[in-house]
Amino acid sequence: SERTLVLIKPDGVARGLTGEILRRIEAKGYTIAELKKVQASSEQLAAHYAEHEGKPFYQPLVDFMLSGPVVAAILEGERVIEGFRSLAGTTDPTTAAPGTIRGDLGRDWGEKVQKNLVHGSDSVESAEREIGIWFS
Ligand code: ATP
Repeated sequence: SERTLVLIKPDGVARGLTGEILRRIEAKGYTIAELKKVQASSEQLAAHYAEHEGKPFYQPLVDFMLSGPVVAAILEGERVIEGFRSLAGTTDPTTAAPGTIRGDLGRDWGEKVQKNLVHGSDSVESAEREIGIWFS
């Protein structure tokens, strides 16, 4: 089977949606192998979002991710990388499909960063790299 790194972002934690998001993951049948609530560091975020450095939303994104605790999880299961991204929905929460985490629970707040509740790794390589950043 496969592993992926999921973050419940500060908006999800602050809004009290941790349980609802974990419920959807468990209901889909994935295993939560590791789980912790942490305040991210600038160093972790620089590593996690290295591919976005220089983009206009980079600094707002980092500031948002530092604004409160996140919940980090390692999920396990067959095709869990693709499966969690399907559960999460597309990046923009305003138009993410109903039935998804972002589509059901997210919206636009008129800010420079899309507060879209969750992150999920997008490939096996990213998953292993990101697991190393958040669980070392
Ligand atoms: P997905 O890959 O499912 O679209 P993601 O979380 O992997 O979602 P990325 O493209 O890696 O999305 O972007 C990282 C994060 O940066 C997004 O989740 C979102 O919070 C924010 N973001 C991305 N694009 C924009 C944008 N154009 N404007 C504002 N914020 C953005």
